[in-house]
Amino acid sequence: MRKLFFLLSFLGMSCPGFPASAQTPMAQPSPRPAETPLTSFPYTPGLDPGAMDRSADPCVDFYRFACGGWIKNHPIPPDESRWSVYGKLARENQRFLWGILDGLARSTAGRSATQQKIGDYFAACMDEAAVEKSGVRPLKRHLDRINGMKAKRDLPAVLARLHLATGSSGPFFGFGSNQDLADSTSVIAFAGSGGLGLPDRDFYTQDDGKSKEIRARYVAHVGRMFELLGDSSDAAKREAAKVMEIETALAGASLTRTQRRDPYKLFHKMDAGGLKTLTPGFDWGVYLKAAGLSRLNAFNVTEPEFYKELDRQWRSLGLGDIKTYLRWHVVHVTAPFLSSAFVNEDFDFFAKTLYGVAELRPRWKRCVTWVDAQLGEALGEEYVSRAFSPELKRRTLRMTKQIEQAMHDDIIGLEWMSAATRQMALEKLHAVVNKIGYPDKWRDYRSVDVRRDDFFGNVERASLFESRRKLGKIGKPLDRGEWTMTPPTVNAYYNAQMNDINFAAGVLQPPLYDPKMDDAPNYGNTGGTIGHELTHGFDDEGRQFDARGNLKDWWTEKDAREFNDRAQCIVDQYAQYTIVDEIKINSKLTEGEDIADLGGLVLAWTAWQAETAGARTESRDGFTPEQRFFVGYAQWACENNRPEDLRARALTDAHSPGKYRVNGLVVNMPEFERAFSCRAGQPMVRENRCRVW
Ligand SMILES: [Zn+2]
Repeated sequence: MRKLFFLLSFLGMSCPGFPASAQTPMAQPSPRPAETPLTSFPYTPGLDPGAMDRSADPCVDFYRFACGGWIKNHPIPPDESRWSVYGKLARENQRFLWGILDGLARSTAGRSATQQKIGDYFAACMDEAAVEKSGVRPLKRHLDRINGMKAKRDLPAVLARLHLATGSSGPFFGFGSNQDLADSTSVIAFAGSGGLGLPDRDFYTQDDGKSKEIRARYVAHVGRMFELLGDSSDAAKREAAKVMEIETALAGASLTRTQRRDPYKLFHKMDAGGLKTLTPGFDWGVYLKAAGLSRLNAFNVTEPEFYKELDRQWRSLGLGDIKTYLRWHVVHVTAPFLSSAFVNEDFDFFAKTLYGVAELRPRWKRCVTWVDAQLGEALGEEYVSRAFSPELKRRTLRMTKQIEQAMHDDIIGLEWMSAATRQMALEKLHAVVNKIGYPDKWRDYRSVDVRRDDFFGNVERASLFESRRKLGKIGKPLDRGEWTMTPPTVNAYYNAQMNDINFAAGVLQPPLYDPKMDDAPNYGNTGGTIGHELTHGFDDEGRQFDARGNLKDWWTEKDAREFNDRAQCIVDQYAQYTIVDEIKINSKLTEGEDIADLGGLVLAWTAWQAETAGARTESRDGFTPEQRFFVGYAQWACENNRPEDLRARALTDAHSPGKYRVNGLVVNMPEFERAFSCRAGQPMVRENRCRVW
């Protein structure tokens, strides 16, 4: 499930394994064959016997049985922090998009207006010599504005401009738009926490040796970035320490990821007067005016305690310290788009130290990622026309409706749910909107000026377009057709306030959905994903929203208790699993995903049974259809991770590692025990099974 609000800044500066360096292709020591653009996808079957390890006993370690071969044969590429079936497909998508963009960059004749934008964006991005030559110059305008501040009262206007230019969760706080939690038809301003350089507030607060080491290396990195801006080594050290001090204070006042899973904790609606009382030291009138917003009088302040701390900071910090902090954040968010000195330094900490990545991604890959991040629906239009047929859309939509029918039947048959809650649950289920592949109406990028010779300018103008687009939604009728994921993305999401499930075209491709394959692995794999997203509407977080997407309790007290008891079974189960070294799963953080995994596969099983009733006899590759259903499921989750990546994800990722998304799930399904003739007492057979949906 996507976050309710404040996804990472769409520039994705602190994304896990965010691509970094601007190393030239020639300088790259490459013992591997160089990657080339793809004109069609390499076919990987939806169930691959070669990816299995048949020497493993499925009743002892099903993940190894289904994925052992894949794990052995797919070492992590040096420019990745982890490698997975999803990641591999995403990279193949990128190579396919590379081919499209390369073509549109080279031949400028006959391009549509949209093709001109993505072709020229890509061409400018790939012109590494020009980027290298521009050095730190593109930042000058921002740095001048910061340095030109005469007093603290200049902060709101400067900050508004920075937020517009760099995305929403920027320096000091995040500001954007979102549906009102109490009235999903109304879009209002949201002021959220933010202001950190590290990927999560927990990085600042944890007390173990590794966390302290990462913090020390972070401060060193911040210092080196100041040096790249031209500061002396002594000054840079002092400045980095000050940045750390400010960010630590902000982190301490921020809610944890687990706390943020409770939507009531993030709902504090107030008018302009309330906002002023909360932060008397900050002139919101000036900020809003500079952000192009006037006469706003409804704000949701997601974390009021954070804003109280912010106000304390603004009062106590000197003007010089505020400038230091802002200079760091400007160079931090823009580093990947600058010359190689910045790119390499950014890579060194944010990819190598944090996630264990050995090599930076080649330029083409970073450029494809940025076109997708900034002009994603223009690129998506090209992708869909080549890679997502109406037939594929029809088939996957049909499967979605079957899974919904399975959930309908499931809810009807639930013994623990009262008639009153059941009626509301069914109403919510029937109101879910299915969005398959891509939006009905493409985003209009006509107003974004893209120039072939101005990469940094393109990045800024596209950022500005996106910031203004988001803020422009405030007070306007809600657009229910909007997507927050681009079509080539290998992922899916449920949005509780829209009450819709969204499957990007990229996730409906082999080996995840394989039109050449029989039903069993397809229902196990894509059916499981559809069921997963649908279950998010009914997990610990999603269940708190009603059919219209409003935060509203529609459960009887007893039914809520029954639900919580069942959810607690899953929380207790996953809390036992080790991620790496001494770190266990934070199962309060992964609760929603773990519930969705189990509910999703249960629903997929039911839908598959209904689809193939009486016609499920044929074994293939020595496996019964029931066994193929489960192997098909497991084979989406095969993965290899670097230990650094696992550590960072333990704090930031709401999903359990692949191994437990498979083994932790099948132990709860008697259908699995029967399919593989497992015996009581074996590791994949659990005595007290969990089951929510
Ligand atoms: Zn999910």
